[in-house]
Amino acid sequence: MNPYENEGLNAIRDGVRALCAQFPAEYWRKIDEQKGFPETFVKALTDEGWLSAMIPEEYGGSGLGLAEASVILEEVNACGGNSGTVHGQMYNMFTLLRHGSDAQKSYYLPKLASGELRLQSMGVTEPSTGTDTTKIKTTAVKRGDKYVINGQKVWISRVQHSDLMILLARTTPLAEVTKKSEGMSIFLVDLRDAIGNGLTVQPIANMVNHETNELFFDNLELPADSLIGEEGKGFRYILDGLNAERALIAAECIGDGRWFIEKSAAYARDRVVFGRPIGQNQGVQFPIAEAHIEIEAADLMRWRACEEYDSGKNAGASANMAKYLAAKASWEAANACLQTHGGFGFACEYDVERKFRETRLYQVAPISTNLILSYVAEHLLDLPRSF
Ligand SMILES: Cc1cc2nc3c(=O)[nH]c(=O)nc-3n(C[C@H](O)[C@H](O)[C@H](O)COP(=O)(O)OP(=O)(O)OC[C@H]3O[C@@H](n4cnc5c(N)ncnc54)[C@H](O)[C@@H]3O)c2cc1C
Repeated sequence: MNPYENEGLNAIRDGVRALCAQFPAEYWRKIDEQKGFPETFVKALTDEGWLSAMIPEEYGGSGLGLAEASVILEEVNACGGNSGTVHGQMYNMFTLLRHGSDAQKSYYLPKLASGELRLQSMGVTEPSTGTDTTKIKTTAVKRGDKYVINGQKVWISRVQHSDLMILLARTTPLAEVTKKSEGMSIFLVDLRDAIGNGLTVQPIANMVNHETNELFFDNLELPADSLIGEEGKGFRYILDGLNAERALIAAECIGDGRWFIEKSAAYARDRVVFGRPIGQNQGVQFPIAEAHIEIEAADLMRWRACEEYDSGKNAGASANMAKYLAAKASWEAANACLQTHGGFGFACEYDVERKFRETRLYQVAPISTNLILSYVAEHLLDLPRSF
């Protein structure tokens, strides 16, 4: 018996599915065509309390764990939607909850829970350093009761649909730290104050309908109490949040995979060519069956990651492996689905090409597949560091 098919999780699945039924494929297709943002969907998800699932009850949320949160995002994608529009709030909130001061938590968390404020953005990636995060060049220099931020970020998502952003910047130059992962700090940036006052946002047109931006910091001043946790420990805090992020993205990929498999099987049963359903041909059946097996296997690792995270264990290995397996499996499922649909897979009205583009992202962001392999090689298999 699957221990994760319990009453509580099934109720979450049913609730999210009922909400998603109000936002059918046509809704997402139109948003994609118009390169718009699903405002009404995000509002509905917020109003029903799904986005504050992991905020503790004392701060106005539901006090649920990563397992429950992962089911919410999985179901959005399994219903044909795109959780990439909202998932930031789930893992960014975790960073604030785990490392923020009491004052920060009691000010921000109730506002996030009620939907008054949105914390959808996290600024880590930089154009000149890419995945080599410890080399980031954005600096935060303390001057009196302020930090002054200078530098540049790239691919920072949902900035135009968020009030707050978690920002990683160097507070001690790389040359002055003993370990390269030290000397970076995280800040809670109030985007409403920052944009136009030292922060410039430039949208990046991209292959998915994903609102993402280049950010330019030119002497942006942040109040000293924007610092989250201790100065210099930001990289560790970010990594902690990234494990939650990886498990959540794995769940989204599993949702995508299930959508592709269901869609493929339905089409293969119905489409008749050469006088029989195409699904009667093993050449059509097998890639769908294989995708199903791989999604189910990835799902097991996703549950392991959630269980470890929720019980306070180090979920680094399982979260990375879950993200790797699920992103790969959803991509295989996407390929099988497109192939099963033949030419119709390319027609926007079937939604396959849209979901195909959306799920492809997860091989690259929020962490590329190669970097997960290198993590496993170095940290689990004790192979020499490659960088
Ligand atoms: C749509 C979108 C949204 C994003 N949203 C955010 C966001 O909100 N916040 C944020 O901070 N970032 C965000 N990102 C950035 C994303 O996390 C990075 O693109 C990703 O981590 C890869 O970094 P990079 O693009 O700089 O690639 P690079 O680091 O330049 O790497 C390029 C390729 O080389 C490979 N590679 C590099 N070094 C090695 C090595 N040593 N061994 C093997 N392979 C290697 C990588 O795996 C990758 O495939 C987003 C990206 C996209 C596309």
